[in-house]
Amino acid sequence: MRPTLLDTLFADATTLPGIGPKLGKILAEFTGDKIVDLLFHLPSNLIDRQYRPSLAEVEDGRIATFEVEVMKHDVPRRRNLPYRILCGNETGYLSLVFFHARGDWLGKAMPQGATRMVSGRVERFREQLQIVHPDHMLPQAEFDKLPIVEPVYPLTAGLSAKALMKATQAALPDLRALPEWQEAEWLKQQGWSDWQDSVQAVHRPENMSALEPTHSARARLAYDELLAHQLVLALVRRDRKKQEGRAYQPADDFQARLLAMLPFPLTGSQEAAIADIRDDMASPMRMLRLLQGDVGSGKTIVALMGMLQAVANGAQSALMAPTEILARQHADTLGPWLDELGIRWQLMTARNKGKMRQESLDALANGDVQIAIGTHALFQDDVAFADLGLAVVDEQHRFGVQQRMALSSKGTGVDVLVMTATPIPRTLTLTAYGDMDVSRMPDKPPGRQPVETRVISMDRYPEVAQGLNNALAEGARIYWVCPLVNESELVDLAAAEDRAKALQKIYGDRVGLVHGQMKPAEKDAVMTRFATGDISILVATTVIEVGVNVPEATVMVIEHAERFGLAQLHQLRGRVGRGLDKSSCVLLYRGPLGETAKSRLNIMRETEDGFKIAEEDLRLRGAGEVLGTRQSGLPLFRLADLEAHADLLPAVHDDVKLLLERDPLLTSPRGEALRVLLYLFRRDEAIRFLQSG
Ligand code: ADP
Ligand code: MG
Repeated sequence: MRPTLLDTLFADATTLPGIGPKLGKILAEFTGDKIVDLLFHLPSNLIDRQYRPSLAEVEDGRIATFEVEVMKHDVPRRRNLPYRILCGNETGYLSLVFFHARGDWLGKAMPQGATRMVSGRVERFREQLQIVHPDHMLPQAEFDKLPIVEPVYPLTAGLSAKALMKATQAALPDLRALPEWQEAEWLKQQGWSDWQDSVQAVHRPENMSALEPTHSARARLAYDELLAHQLVLALVRRDRKKQEGRAYQPADDFQARLLAMLPFPLTGSQEAAIADIRDDMASPMRMLRLLQGDVGSGKTIVALMGMLQAVANGAQSALMAPTEILARQHADTLGPWLDELGIRWQLMTARNKGKMRQESLDALANGDVQIAIGTHALFQDDVAFADLGLAVVDEQHRFGVQQRMALSSKGTGVDVLVMTATPIPRTLTLTAYGDMDVSRMPDKPPGRQPVETRVISMDRYPEVAQGLNNALAEGARIYWVCPLVNESELVDLAAAEDRAKALQKIYGDRVGLVHGQMKPAEKDAVMTRFATGDISILVATTVIEVGVNVPEATVMVIEHAERFGLAQLHQLRGRVGRGLDKSSCVLLYRGPLGETAKSRLNIMRETEDGFKIAEEDLRLRGAGEVLGTRQSGLPLFRLADLEAHADLLPAVHDDVKLLLERDPLLTSPRGEALRVLLYLFRRDEAIRFLQSG
């Protein structure tokens, strides 16, 4: 139950002045529908009414405030003409201009001869000073009640600056003190004030510097938000560790036999990751480990070693791939090894239907199958395992904390290994994956050919298209990727189709097309033709992104490269350079490019190290953009800015660690306050982990 102390904060925004049902609906979508949501919606700019020049000296375009006398109303003869009020003082004249004005109201508010404070953005129209729709026209006494500096909030359609400001400001005087959840010593050291003062300060900025994320009030609130987030991750992690897992003896025999079969030695990174997993699985606690390694770093073998450990102990393992194609590819590579080891395995995807599917289900349920490879079909409700010991997830899109937990529900004490090829800068790993243990694999298998990357303007498209001839003459296979342009699949599809047609004019039926709207079977058919060399140029929308392996492919052309995120470009480029032949990547861009875009494409030319690319991208674009939730699995914060507040992350982490050591059940005064914090940020689902004790 939410503490009653938070009731006013969680009252509907519609209880604030000026917020009716209609605005309430808009707010619900835009900021959230509670008062606390408005308070967490921070100003992005401000209007300073301290600027009070004379009418003779005012600068155009600035927001200015004047004391004037109302001289004359110019009532329009036609509805579509503006209503004008002429005002002035000893320094000059000023027109106030209104479109679709209500004359009766203006007559009352601005009677002729009255003195008024008028403020708004000043402009010059035919040598005359004017303000269109002034922000304020008030008698002195009322004007004095306005804040001199007014915050300006990010807006959405249907929501006016004034309404939002008024409502938010109205919520401020009612703020109650909340128990302090930060350490007094730390607050003092940072020079931060308490919560309600900080909230008030961010909504009453006195100058532009108060809008900086590093301003003390903003930094405090950011810390609060990060603290709530990290605390939840830590509680989830602790709860998981408390759950009984199973201890699997290392599978030395299987692993040695597999090693002997491999035509290559393992990399140092692979050995280290395998050791991490072996230890996790051998311990009686449950494993939840993230295996982070670039495309081609050899994660699959590492996962296989873990799966062997479960199997050697009589349990089952499951490997889940994000797509049908990838599941098949895993089956193709792992299958022969598993056969050789005498392990019973099976491929299971959405394409297993009817009788075949029933047989698969039975085999899983009675334990005939020891290793299952498949898509998410593996984790559907009607799938039961005899005894699932390890679930490996080769992920494309990141899962949230919730889904990570749900995954292990297919058995008791199931160990979970998540593999990702999206590198995240080290500083952000904890924020994204604080509930998991992480193994990073920086090394790549030796002997890979570097991919030569060129950045070329689309103006030179004809050259590039013709240039493929040389590569084809040498037997190359070529990917040509067309990007998401409109976030509309149909429009993107049209672009890819056009490109395929244009290339077909030159290269005839050696050109194929694969896109997201095709049925899985059609997609596979095209991919197979490409893999076997039946077609040599594969035009694709980004469906190939997810790790298809065609070692013969040596050229990657990416159209509109400037529209892709660096992580995505890096993933795409990882599709070539997998075989023995020299590979190249052409990044086609449509200019003109800004400085950042240029630098970003240049990074691609300079390095193939995914972790380095991620760090650089973070530096250039900021965390918010690089790591939108969808792409990265990072949570979206409202008050914290992962880039600007990056230096707070280690402090938050240490804080949480120490706190849970001293007060594991959050029963101290600070612990109680932290429970309030979790409710405040709607992260209270983690509180149930405190009750069981
Ligand atoms: P990813 O990390 O992208 O999933 P994979 O596991 O698919 O990478 O491995 C990519 C390729 O590299 C596979 O063909 C695999 O057999 C090969 N490979 C894996 N480990 C090594 C190694 N240590 N030395 C050489 N080749 C390796
Ligand atoms: Mg892989």
